[in-house]
Amino acid sequence: MCVKLTNYVSGSWVEGADGGEPLLDPVRGAVLARVSSAGVDYRAALQYAREIGGPSLRQLTYEQRAQLLARIADVLASNRETYYRIALENSGSPKSDAAIDIDGAIYTLRYYAKEGATLGKRGFLLDGPMTALAKDESFQSLHVAVPLRGVAILINAFNFPSWGLWEKAAPALLSGVPVLAKPATATAWLAQRMVEDVVAAALLPPGALSIVCGRAGDLLDHVTGTDVIAFTGSAETAQRIRSHPAVARHSARTNIEADSLNVAILGPDVEASGAELDLLVKEVVKEMTIKAGQKCTAIRRILVPASRLETVAQAIRARLEKIRIGDPRNPEVQMGPVVSKSQQESVQDGIRRLAHECRVVYGGGEHFELLDADVSAGAFVQPTLLEHERPLEGRAIHDVEVFGPVATLLPYRDLAEAFTIAHLGRGSLVASVFTGDAAVAHAAALELAPTHGRVHVVSGEVGRTQSGHGNVMPMSVHGGPGRAGGGQELGGLRALKLYHQLSALQGPAPWLGTLADQAVQT
Ligand code: NAP
Repeated sequence: MCVKLTNYVSGSWVEGADGGEPLLDPVRGAVLARVSSAGVDYRAALQYAREIGGPSLRQLTYEQRAQLLARIADVLASNRETYYRIALENSGSPKSDAAIDIDGAIYTLRYYAKEGATLGKRGFLLDGPMTALAKDESFQSLHVAVPLRGVAILINAFNFPSWGLWEKAAPALLSGVPVLAKPATATAWLAQRMVEDVVAAALLPPGALSIVCGRAGDLLDHVTGTDVIAFTGSAETAQRIRSHPAVARHSARTNIEADSLNVAILGPDVEASGAELDLLVKEVVKEMTIKAGQKCTAIRRILVPASRLETVAQAIRARLEKIRIGDPRNPEVQMGPVVSKSQQESVQDGIRRLAHECRVVYGGGEHFELLDADVSAGAFVQPTLLEHERPLEGRAIHDVEVFGPVATLLPYRDLAEAFTIAHLGRGSLVASVFTGDAAVAHAAALELAPTHGRVHVVSGEVGRTQSGHGNVMPMSVHGGPGRAGGGQELGGLRALKLYHQLSALQGPAPWLGTLADQAVQT
């Protein structure tokens, strides 16, 4: 009989009241565990976190909370091998994919532990200097950011059960805001196990960290104006969360990280034998195959000068042909399955929609060679490269996010046209630009920044040191406008803003001066 994962709420582990939903191995189809949130009292769980967890966390200083993050990272690091096994079984992740999720989480926690230590022993943050409100200096204004009094409700997507949890929990806990995590059902096991290990280590005050595995049920009915919802997932679910009556009624703060049609652009300056062309090709193949393309930041549209289209297509194709797909238990395997049979169906449906207006350059088949795996039992998808001849006339290419190993090549005439095509994505998480020409980089950065949360420029000189198109680094902001959700996470201590309330304090200058001395300038 398989294990049923328990939920940690109101300081206790509770089992869901029904039989629960199965968590499956996407390679073999075996049932690994069951999850259920049936019967979980979300109202009580949130109240406990608000009334018990929040005050205890806020009794600590930023520095002390930063130390807690470092200790969480140590606990997770000491259980790394267990997490790799869970990622292999429940997500079908080869070790290199699991590392992005698991070690990425530990790295992000350690980063915030270090950053948080610089905030010292204060109880609140300053935002800018004092400003005179009168003709003389006697009456002034001071902006302070104070920790929210509610709960950080972290609703996550299936593709990053570990990093998705901790990249949000780190700034929330550092801010002094308790966390209730709601991982995606399909891959909840890893997040649940990590929380179990952290709870067992008794590092955090009661109520600081809760987790519910299984469906959200009536969770959002109990949201108040002091809570914050940090959501990662599809645009469709984001829309449901935004328009939820309780969220709307209480103006509950929401941060939405949704889907995206990120671009990689090859500069018009790059020759067919140029270093940047080779770097773009490698990056595209990496982005298509890491986590079987299930990354919100993955390259979906590849923009190349029309004269370079064939060279780039052949180079990507040649690399894709060499990718070994199959059961990641075999160390030779480079790409595993997508997360589930239903996700496989959704990706194949997406490929069909793109193929309706595109030519398939490589892949697209439903029967292809696998290492140690059976195509009918596993949720495998062949890496698929498509090409659209007239991107300005395309529809699906700018609209359908195929969340798998799929990308489309798009030719452009000149740089202005490349920017127009990029903007047709209506707001994305990241654009990368491969160029050796500083003027191209400059124009692209300023033109793309309004519609992209991150612009990543790669020249031949930084080929070895660049951090990667799809890698989300905690020092840089993550999020994008428009269809990407309009959210903003990470970006160093900027991340703390989501979990603080900004207030303008107005009063006698000497009083404000004393207060300012107690705070930290961010
Ligand atoms: P999803 O179906 O939208 O689900 C996301 C989360 O929302 C899950 O935890 C889901 O729970 C929960 N949820 C569903 N309905 C809800 C409701 N009514 N109230 C509260 N929570 C609800 O997305 P997914 O399939 O897991 O993830 C894939 C998508 O995420 C892709 O579109 C991808 O682009 C996007 N993504 C974006 C980012 C980013 O940072 N921008 C990062 C990763 C992924 P259940 O699992 O229980 O349904």
